[in-house]
Amino acid sequence: MSRSPSVPDRPTLELDPEMSDEERLSALQEHFTDITKVNDKLGERVDAAADRREDLAEEVDKLQRENEMLKTTSLYVATVEDVTEDGVIIKQHGNNQEVLTDMAVQLREDIEAGDRVAVNDSFTIQRLLDTEKDARAQAMEVDASPAVTYGDIGGIDDQIREVREAVEEPLVNPEQFEEAGIEPPSGVLLYGPPGTGKTMLAKAVANETDATFIKMAGSELVQKFIGEGAKLVRDLFSLAAEREPAVIFIDEIDAVASKRTDSKTSGDAEVQRTMMQLLSEMDGFEDRGNIRIIAATNRFDMLDSAILRPGRFDRLIEVPNPTAEGRRRILEIHTDGMNLDDDVDFDRLSRATEDFSGAEIESLTTESGMFAIRDGRTEVTMDDFDGALETMEAGDQSTVPNLRYAY
Ligand code: ATP
Repeated sequence: MSRSPSVPDRPTLELDPEMSDEERLSALQEHFTDITKVNDKLGERVDAAADRREDLAEEVDKLQRENEMLKTTSLYVATVEDVTEDGVIIKQHGNNQEVLTDMAVQLREDIEAGDRVAVNDSFTIQRLLDTEKDARAQAMEVDASPAVTYGDIGGIDDQIREVREAVEEPLVNPEQFEEAGIEPPSGVLLYGPPGTGKTMLAKAVANETDATFIKMAGSELVQKFIGEGAKLVRDLFSLAAEREPAVIFIDEIDAVASKRTDSKTSGDAEVQRTMMQLLSEMDGFEDRGNIRIIAATNRFDMLDSAILRPGRFDRLIEVPNPTAEGRRRILEIHTDGMNLDDDVDFDRLSRATEDFSGAEIESLTTESGMFAIRDGRTEVTMDDFDGALETMEAGDQSTVPNLRYAY
């Protein structure tokens, strides 16, 4: 730091009482000149100091802004648990630590339980965050009342019955399990080829039981950063607890619950951590009340046996591709709102669609409608269905690319 220049000596004047008036006048004039010089010098110093003060004020301003910026980049995300007279209880994301803290005065009016907030190093709430920025919302599909009913699902009546028994009954009629003295199954696992109605089934259960449907794809749980997958699992279950009754649907569960491999890469370790978190959430499940889990996979053979242990997924329900009768039913469901010519023969179509999944049958109905529209008609004929079938069998030669394998 620069040192201040020394202050010039203050001129002094000593008048001899013996002096003549002339001598006295000349001494006073000399003294006046000295004082004026010192005054000028001091004036210069004051100007220089004012300039320096301005420079320093600018520097302070810049440092303050930098400081603010540094403070904002180091904020942590937390959720407000409760607003009490003693302060606000928050739970930090990542480590789940609960802290009693305070908040910036201007936020007092706006904060309530459930809000997502940013806190600084000393846990003081700095900012209220937009809930839409919540990672949970990005990774999960939450539907308070899905529109699918059991009547929309064709060809898997046995599976519907089993799911109703294992998932719907405990939600709607918990007393009967208590009276019988048995624990209701905590979850069911649906397995089978893609597009057979597994997601629909989970949505229909949520609809029929007035439960919130919360879907998360297993692939979303495989995260890049350590601990993030496990955190998403915790978030998933805590969201379900907030919204109970709830049906949690974990699609592609094989992404996190695959058989352990010998590979020791950190990515595998992270997937393992996520799966351990999932298992522990499922084990602590009975106390959670009205939450049921439905998981789905196309790769049953890949699943780790830990996930299939009793108390976790005690019901394993296969959802295969539909039989001829099932395909007929699915055709009826998906052509329900269509303008069909009398010549459309469902029996022949259900025979011609062997190996088709429900999703592929739905595509067939849409594609046949497209055939009619391209021909300038709105009534769909058997020829349109035949054309659509040919296109789908041929794979990607259609204007609608490769519908057969779209799912
Ligand atoms: P994935 O394993 O790929 O997730 P999924 O088995 O969950 O598939 P859904 O998402 O339920 O399949 O089905 C996709 C679409 O296919 C549904 O929206 C529906 O239109 C149709 N579909 C599939 N199966 C059936 C079915 N059994 N009855 C009626 N429609 C069906």
